[in-house]
Amino acid sequence: MSTVLVLVHHDDGVIRKPSLELLTLARRLGEPAAVVHGEPGDALIDTLGRHGATTVYAIAPPEPPAYRPAVEALALADLATRTAPVAVLISSGPSGTEVAARVAVKLDAGIITDAVQVTAGPDGPVATQSVFAGTWLVEGRVRRGTPVITVRPNAVTPEPAPAPVSPAVERIALAEPVPDASPRVVASRAKAATGRPDLTEATVVVAGGRGVGSAEGFALIERLADTLGGAVGASRAATDLTWCPHELQIGQTGKTVAPQLYLAGGISGAIQHRAGMQGSRTIVAINKDPKAPIFQIADFGVVGDLHTVLPALIDEISQRRG
Ligand code: FAD
Repeated sequence: MSTVLVLVHHDDGVIRKPSLELLTLARRLGEPAAVVHGEPGDALIDTLGRHGATTVYAIAPPEPPAYRPAVEALALADLATRTAPVAVLISSGPSGTEVAARVAVKLDAGIITDAVQVTAGPDGPVATQSVFAGTWLVEGRVRRGTPVITVRPNAVTPEPAPAPVSPAVERIALAEPVPDASPRVVASRAKAATGRPDLTEATVVVAGGRGVGSAEGFALIERLADTLGGAVGASRAATDLTWCPHELQIGQTGKTVAPQLYLAGGISGAIQHRAGMQGSRTIVAINKDPKAPIFQIADFGVVGDLHTVLPALIDEISQRRG
């Protein structure tokens, strides 16, 4: 069976959910081979085996430390040349897209970014992309070289393999130095932890817009997100009004999210906002204007004042959860 190279990211040995999603997709295309940065611990190898990875390639970080996307790209390109995989799968996002672009250039191969589905086709993997603000689904395949495909987080539900495997672990060193032109990391500091999931990876997103009314009102959005264990998002109006940080902006000029549940409070549903959330599985909108465009794409809509609806919703959810 053909190998599928999967770039796996983890936090201290805990595999990030988008990487588990990639492994689930990879099993539909062939035999997943996980590529991880650094020395994998037993627990990490065990989890990879439970998700069907028959091989784990561990990249030995170069000395002195180099720009990580460049390191990952060199390792993936080298492995792709050696193993002739059916595809290289990487999670979408700023870092993943950079790694994928570098791999495709190195392999002189085609690339498809931000796929929402990947299936096996007679002439290689077929990737589905959601385009034009989520109004069209486009299927495409790479016609030259090893397909390099980035997949949007939350596109599939991660599932363990039907039967776990014991992966073979191979440590690999870079076959060539990281290019001099690569950026050099001069300092890094961890972001203050909010305890909430990452916005682009969350299965539940609660987003607030201008209708929230104030920075204090935005706390209601945060409370609902915490009640549901979700991430907090916002429209551009809410971030421009500095009710929340710009990194929470969803839309054409913000982040793209595709959670299982997207809850919008006080967001009108402008096309630029929809561009970043239209791929959500279930959309719930709370807006006091029954003609707000968000209701055109909502699966469930509540016409009402969010200051009344959201506290009632939080109470109800809390009660049901005991
Ligand atoms: P509004 O459009 O003002 O809507 C507020 C809504 O809240 C209204 O529907 C109102 O009925 C409702 N409301 C008011 N009070 C209450 C209440 N008490 N209870 C319930 N509902 C209430 N926008 C983005 O979001 N993301 C982007 O990435 C983005 N990129 C852009 C790029 C460009 C080039 C341009 C031109 C615009 C972009 N915008 C973007 C802005 C976008 O056009 C809208 O202006 C913005 O999305 C509106 O935000 P909003 O829905 O919060 O505010």
